[in-house]
Amino acid sequence: MAKNNQNEIDIVTTEKSKINTVDFNNLIFGRVFTDHMFVCDFEDGKWQTPKVMPYQAMSIEPSARVFHYGQAVFEGMKAYKDDDGKVFLFRPEDNHRRINKSAARLAIPEFPKDYFFNGLEALLNADKDWIKPGLGNSLYIRPFVIATEAAISASPAATYRFMIICSPAKAYYNAPVRVLFAEKFSRSADGGVGFAKAAGNYAAQFYPTSLAQKKGFQQIIWTDASTHKYLEEAGTMNIFFRINDTLITAPTSDRILDGITRKSVIQLAKDLGIKCEVRQVSVEEIKNAAKDGSLKEIFGAGTAAVISPVSAFEHADDVFEIEQIPNSYAMLFKEKLMHIQHNIGLDEHGWRYEVVSK
Ligand SMILES: *Cc1c(COP(=O)(O)O)cnc(C)c1O
Repeated sequence: MAKNNQNEIDIVTTEKSKINTVDFNNLIFGRVFTDHMFVCDFEDGKWQTPKVMPYQAMSIEPSARVFHYGQAVFEGMKAYKDDDGKVFLFRPEDNHRRINKSAARLAIPEFPKDYFFNGLEALLNADKDWIKPGLGNSLYIRPFVIATEAAISASPAATYRFMIICSPAKAYYNAPVRVLFAEKFSRSADGGVGFAKAAGNYAAQFYPTSLAQKKGFQQIIWTDASTHKYLEEAGTMNIFFRINDTLITAPTSDRILDGITRKSVIQLAKDLGIKCEVRQVSVEEIKNAAKDGSLKEIFGAGTAAVISPVSAFEHADDVFEIEQIPNSYAMLFKEKLMHIQHNIGLDEHGWRYEVVSK
């Protein structure tokens, strides 16, 4: 067991890596975790010395507040390796900023930037063999914070645990998804927590999504909670519509998560001279565009799948099929983003962040 200290992180590496037991050609998303994890506890009003240690189960009191009141937030990011073995993150400052924005809304103390970056670097160095080169291969990184205080009074906890776990992800062909436009259920409301990556936001989508799946639609496009007239986002992805050659996406708000992939697509569209309108987009407008043939594409944008094309949508029992076109914007943005992430394409905006090898 190697023990050392890097930037005031206690690092204990595993005696025996399990990497040889993993079939990297047949990875199911989010099932397998790397050899190590990052842990930092908030106690006595401050974040304590962070640790990198072997990935393992942990013991938490049943009364920990996270189990009762869902005081928990998370992030989703990826590490990529180029053919020279260099490791990169994509716009990680935004993940740090966002987890603190989410945390503040859930009354969770913010996590210091140097702890976040030093922790990520130490963890990725310990697990660097788990990041495979090759376009589309990546290591999915899941930072999260949970309320650990053992007390079931309904108020913010006094103790928390910040952790980072990592799961190798394979380049996969994501088949176009069929989606349902929400008419009854809502994901978020004005003044709520829709903008935050709060754990409870996802649990609340499982039931309506399972109903949609029974009807043959894999995902729901959420509409505004008060009128259900305006299209907002997909719940783990932001959403773009292409009418003729113009892209349209809803503005972010306290109901919509400010996705890093979304804002990267908006910037790339600008770079490529593709018109992109950030404005409210109504169900009616998209149905009319589907009817008159001007609706060319719908696609989701998020870290996990990068870009997910939509092949059909349903609203008020009307089903509209969307023909998958060659040279789609969806595929153009996916390729551009992946090339930047894997250090193949020019990084005009400084989005790549190289993780220094130790
Ligand atoms: C994570 C997430 C997205 C996508 O954000 P990225 O930063 O692009 O990964 C979109 N919507 C919701 C609700 C999300 O949780």
